[in-house]
Amino acid sequence: MFISLRVRKSILIAAIATAALGLLVAVLFSSRGSQQSVPTSASPQQVQQKPRTVYLTFDDGPSRNTDALLEVLNEQQVKATFFVTGQNPEYFDCIAKAKEQGHLIALHTYTHNFSSIYSGSTAFWEDIEKLNELIYEQTGEYSNLLRFPGGSSNTVSKRHGGVHIMQTLIAECEQRDIAYVDWNVDTKDAENGTCDADTIFQRAVRGADQVDGDLVILMHDGTANTTAAQATEQVIQYFRDQGCTFDTLDHMEELVHHHLTN
Ligand SMILES: [Zn+2]
Repeated sequence: MFISLRVRKSILIAAIATAALGLLVAVLFSSRGSQQSVPTSASPQQVQQKPRTVYLTFDDGPSRNTDALLEVLNEQQVKATFFVTGQNPEYFDCIAKAKEQGHLIALHTYTHNFSSIYSGSTAFWEDIEKLNELIYEQTGEYSNLLRFPGGSSNTVSKRHGGVHIMQTLIAECEQRDIAYVDWNVDTKDAENGTCDADTIFQRAVRGADQVDGDLVILMHDGTANTTAAQATEQVIQYFRDQGCTFDTLDHMEELVHHHLTN
């Protein structure tokens, strides 16, 4: 079939125009598509999936159980925070050992005796100074991080030092340049003597489900906590599988604080 040159030219132009339009449409759609795929805000599920930092904390040591715990932490290459007391002199060298392994040593009172430490601010700070001398002897450094026995919102202290004792001590922390920290996951591993490792582990997992963001897990390595090492191994493996990393509390930007009830 004969087609004039002019007509062929028109067909060619029309074909080019159609192709160009097609390309333009494709580009527009693909750019709209890519805009749509950018989320405007993270869904709760996405927030939950963000890797969290886990701060493992151990109160009430050193004790006969600290050495085994340090071994697990060393094997797993995890650094933790130890809130120590002066109650077991035969294990004081565990404080030095923990520090050498890269753990953070912090204050938890020398006697851990509520009726004396919470009887008043003078008694409390005398106790802390005594403990800080012990920490200095073992590590060559003083600590400026404290965890109150029972936590900052404990109410037992009122019986010994009056209703405002915790408010007073918290205010004095600031004057003394001492930071205090509580926890947001409680394994309750010190409530009724020895707690089995699996129960501690399950409480850590359930507790973590209730928290958005980084975790400060409360555990103990006192005399009764014979399962601390085993529980810690399970806890580390679980949270590592979740993509979490572990760190010491001197690297936490905003320390966890409970709220006073009075
Ligand atoms: Zn304690």
